[in-house]
Amino acid sequence: MQEYPQTLIGRTTAEVREAVTAAGLPAYRGSQVGEWLYRRTLPGEGGGFGADFAAMTDLPQTARAELAARFGAPVLIPGEQRTDRRDETVKILARLADGGHPIECVLLPDERRVSVCLSTQAGCPMACAFCATGTQGLTRNLSAAEIVAQFLLLQSRSARRISHVVLMGMGEPLLNYENTLKAIRILSAECGIAMRHITLSTVGIVPQMDRLAQENLQITLAVSLHAPTDELRRRLVPVAKTYPLDRLMDTCRRYAAHTHRRLTFEYVLLREVNDRPEEARELAALLRGVPAAVNLIPYNPTAVAEPFQRPGPERIAAFRKILEQAGLTVTQRKERGRQIAAACGQLVTEATRRTPKKTLPVLAGVA
Ligand code: SAH
Repeated sequence: MQEYPQTLIGRTTAEVREAVTAAGLPAYRGSQVGEWLYRRTLPGEGGGFGADFAAMTDLPQTARAELAARFGAPVLIPGEQRTDRRDETVKILARLADGGHPIECVLLPDERRVSVCLSTQAGCPMACAFCATGTQGLTRNLSAAEIVAQFLLLQSRSARRISHVVLMGMGEPLLNYENTLKAIRILSAECGIAMRHITLSTVGIVPQMDRLAQENLQITLAVSLHAPTDELRRRLVPVAKTYPLDRLMDTCRRYAAHTHRRLTFEYVLLREVNDRPEEARELAALLRGVPAAVNLIPYNPTAVAEPFQRPGPERIAAFRKILEQAGLTVTQRKERGRQIAAACGQLVTEATRRTPKKTLPVLAGVA
């Protein structure tokens, strides 16, 4: 079992009350702390992002000191922050206070919503052919605290309140099932993000999708499909060897039937690899009868072994048209943060290249 730093972030208010009581304080102090942690945004102290007890001004000094001594460990060490001036996308590279591993999280505001994209693992073991994070391998699962802390960090850097969360950053959330679910429950119950405004994106881990269905959450499940045939999918998404499309699609149908939620199917468009009219027709056939929306994601060029290319607008439009003519709802991911290397895992990959490995662990002044 991974041991994580002592923090109250990532605990429900009921759990915070228990922890505070165990520290010899009255339980209602725990409710106050919960309020500070999740609903008033604090930047954290000591250069690390954790619970800033010193700033919790409605607690007595002694209580603040006691709690800081027990639970004041930083969770994240915020690092480089890049803002794309054109669309206000903000990407933050942060290091896990415990171990120094780099992760990324992104703030994506638009006129209607403020979305954030959070990571669930440091690195990722799935090795999808086009994904920058996939080149890194898995370092470790993030704790619920480390997932929620990304949200709190981004909220502290945003003038507007966050309204939507997508678990589409680094990592495969369903391979870090318990911590991800715990984080989702805290984001919903404590941070006020409606379940319907939370999207979990999976590469398609079939047994865990079945398990997730049983939780009966109103979140959106997004499945990274990327290919309509097993042959092609195995090339792009290695885990397709374990979970072929017939099993995956059966699971998706069961998931939709059980949760009454429409699924999103993500499809990264790679020029002349999976973007031909033939693949569009096969995709439409594969999704027939599944309550589905398709999210087309034009490939974001990254440093991966294979030289993939993004298709031009005409090819994308033609692909989209075939799906729409087959009656599918299609959305297209807006290209955002291109100037700041906002594709999944890109910033960490860059940072790792710039910094020799041995200096990665802990930043100066922390730990
Ligand atoms: N492991 C999960 C979530 C993280 S990736 C999953 O596979 O769904 C989030 C989405 O970004 C996935 O659909 C993934 O395939 C896609 N993605 C990864 N690298 C990309 C790139 N270079 N360009 C466009 N989309 C990419």
